[in-house]
Amino acid sequence: MKNIKVKRTVILLGILVSFLLLFGCSEEEDYQLVQESRFALGTYNQVTVYAPSEEEGQDIMDAVFTRVNEIENLMSINVEDSDISKLNEKAGESSVTVDPETFHLLDLGKEYKELTDGTFNIGIGTLIQLWDIGGDDQQVPEEAEIGSLLNHTDLNQLILNEDSYEARIEDPEMIVDLGGIAKGYAVDQAVQVIKNHGVEHAIVDFGGDVYVLGGNPDGNDWRIGISTPEIGESGVVGRLFSSDMSVVSSGDYERYFIENDQLYHHIIDPSTGHPTDNELSSVTVISDSALEGDILSTAMFVMGLEDGLDFVNDLEGVEAVLITKSKEVYLTTGVSDLFEIMDEEYTLAD
Ligand code: FAD
Ligand code: MG
Repeated sequence: MKNIKVKRTVILLGILVSFLLLFGCSEEEDYQLVQESRFALGTYNQVTVYAPSEEEGQDIMDAVFTRVNEIENLMSINVEDSDISKLNEKAGESSVTVDPETFHLLDLGKEYKELTDGTFNIGIGTLIQLWDIGGDDQQVPEEAEIGSLLNHTDLNQLILNEDSYEARIEDPEMIVDLGGIAKGYAVDQAVQVIKNHGVEHAIVDFGGDVYVLGGNPDGNDWRIGISTPEIGESGVVGRLFSSDMSVVSSGDYERYFIENDQLYHHIIDPSTGHPTDNELSSVTVISDSALEGDILSTAMFVMGLEDGLDFVNDLEGVEAVLITKSKEVYLTTGVSDLFEIMDEEYTLAD
């Protein structure tokens, strides 16, 4: 089951990026296109750079993935001695001193829980573990168990001391999980590494969290395919024209299992403890940072169409494409001229 899903992700991402390369760029003599995909953060991470030479391109790849591994080793709940594993292990017992980077994301997690009215909550780790969607123990849990774990998701129980970078969880039964935030952060950090090497045109795509650096070398915007949010489909609903932006999607079609004809996916509504169930099938957020896009796409997915649109319309510099299960596409004003539908089964909503 797990293997099948991993394969699917690869195909999906493959299409997204080949789409980019096919339509997005022309061969330029001054650049060497270097592309590599490596597995980390539980997904395939593809990096495409227009480097001065093949050799420099390879150096950049090594530097990028070294950085990604650093982040994974600090923040993964699946790495035994990561900051997050230590923090969770000591819940109810004592503080742990974490790396400033981990501290920063924990702090942002608390801040965004407030900003998103609780729809984004890094404190729902016990529920994520219970469902284990995409993992070896995925299951539909007992209602009573979900109900009891809902009492252990209060982020006020996560205490942060910014002078000493100490963090502690008061509630011994609470678990913090950065799965909905650290991938976006890793994308931004990868982009920083690439910029530090003087590269002006690049695409970073970590399991659907994308950043396009610069425009494409032919002088136009990149054209980014927004994946069809349907199980078993691998096409694109439309394309988005963008430069120097992150484009991050969350949806119910990537990490899931089906039992008794019912779809159970990985975006949990913290108010119910169940996979989010509303009219949306995907949310794509276009913003300056993939970190913010990662958080907001998940939050808006939980909020649903109307609340999600209201929420994003109040945010400066953040745009979104929301796709419903009935195949309607909603755009915020700032992207209405930058998005083009390509699959005629989908229609633009007013
Ligand atoms: P998003 O919508 O951005 O995030 C959904 C993920 O966030 C869920 O999978 C869950 O982890 C969490 N989440 C769910 N609901 C909420 C909510 N309401 N509020 C806040 N968070 C929520 N996968 C593996 O299979 N094996 C690994 O070893 C592994 N290691 C990882 C290590 C790190 C550091 C990170 C960042 C991710 C890792 N992953 C791993 C992948 C991870 O489990 C998610 O699949 C991935 O981060 C989800 O990204 P997304 O953009 O698809 O979905
Ligand atoms: Mg995300």
